Amino acid sequence: MSTKRDYYEILGVSKSASQDEIKKAYRKVAMQYHPDRNPDNKEAEEKFKEAAEAYEVLSDADRRAQYDRFGHAAAGAGRGGYGGSMNMEDIFSNFGDIFGEDIFGSFFGGGNRGGGGGRRSRGTRGSNLRVKIRLNYEEISKGVEKKIKVKKYVPCQHCSGLGAKDKNSFQTCGTCGGSGQVRKVTQTFLGQMQTVTTCPTCHGEGQTITSKCGHCKGEGRMFGEEMVTIPIPAGVQEGMQLSLSGKGNAGERGGAPGDLNILIEEEPHPELQRDGLNVAYDLYISFPDAVFGTSVEVPTIDGKAKIKIPPGTQSGKVFRLKGKGFPSVNSYEKGDQLIQVNVWTPQQVNGEEKAFLEKVQASDNFRPNPEKSAKGFFDKVRDIFS
Ligand SMILES: [Zn+2]
Ligand SMILES: [Zn+2]
Repeated sequence: MSTKRDYYEILGVSKSASQDEIKKAYRKVAMQYHPDRNPDNKEAEEKFKEAAEAYEVLSDADRRAQYDRFGHAAAGAGRGGYGGSMNMEDIFSNFGDIFGEDIFGSFFGGGNRGGGGGRRSRGTRGSNLRVKIRLNYEEISKGVEKKIKVKKYVPCQHCSGLGAKDKNSFQTCGTCGGSGQVRKVTQTFLGQMQTVTTCPTCHGEGQTITSKCGHCKGEGRMFGEEMVTIPIPAGVQEGMQLSLSGKGNAGERGGAPGDLNILIEEEPHPELQRDGLNVAYDLYISFPDAVFGTSVEVPTIDGKAKIKIPPGTQSGKVFRLKGKGFPSVNSYEKGDQLIQVNVWTPQQVNGEEKAFLEKVQASDNFRPNPEKSAKGFFDKVRDIFS
């Protein structure tokens, strides 16, 4: 996992920044490192991409909340899954409004980027979808790839999602002449200023459809289903949300697809209990085993482990299996398994046992005599909360 800079730091805003402040900050950073101003400057390009990724996450309330709670791994940016950085075309098509529909657009030459069709957008973006995925402890600890069938809008096969009957069913938009944009010149106290906005007739598509596809009624998409493979990183937690770019509903008339958001649910384990990165297990042993010592098998997240109980083990003693807990989703840290010993007190005894116990009752060895150094309940509680 590569080390990534904090998104807030990249944009130079505080964690409590408003959406407006984030947008302004992004525009400022994006202008500074804009490729038009820094031709052939690899470092500026990286900074430009980094800022776009930070903005992509922080400008989306859901993903920002995820990022605040879980860091980079959960927030997932860019096309092609988690943390994949965006390419230039994605940046200009996703954040076109930042560069296009204001004076910065014309400042940078109207943003004729991406070759050929320029910044003409196509169709309407599909909406995001949300699915729940239930995972057991083993899947969470190792990470897993889940294949699920998602019912959603998929591109119409008959018209390749364009919504037109055939390739002759398009005509160039008369309002904008095919550019998808209309320019307006306004007078301001600074002088003439040119603004560029999306064409109201073709909604930025540059062309209109003369004859619609009969299968999708011109929408370019149909309700269907898709098998989606969801890579789930190790260490996720209940309530965490992952985002898979482009796996949501197909857009209308060739528009970009929405995202698929995946909500993580934890399946409770019959014997183990998760506590953050650690996993706890309550072990019951008999009184003779506590006295003589024994070797027991305990369940772990992945299979069983043998542990030795030394002679004279007290109830409440906690054994630690290092590294047998959950991995952190954000770092190389790994939790432990904590095994708390409970000495089982018999609920009933027969005559013979009763006689034996009465015989040893007065023995010095059976009288509680905790060492001064042994940590009592209050010390343990203090340790846990300190
Ligand atoms: Zn169609
Ligand atoms: Zn138009």
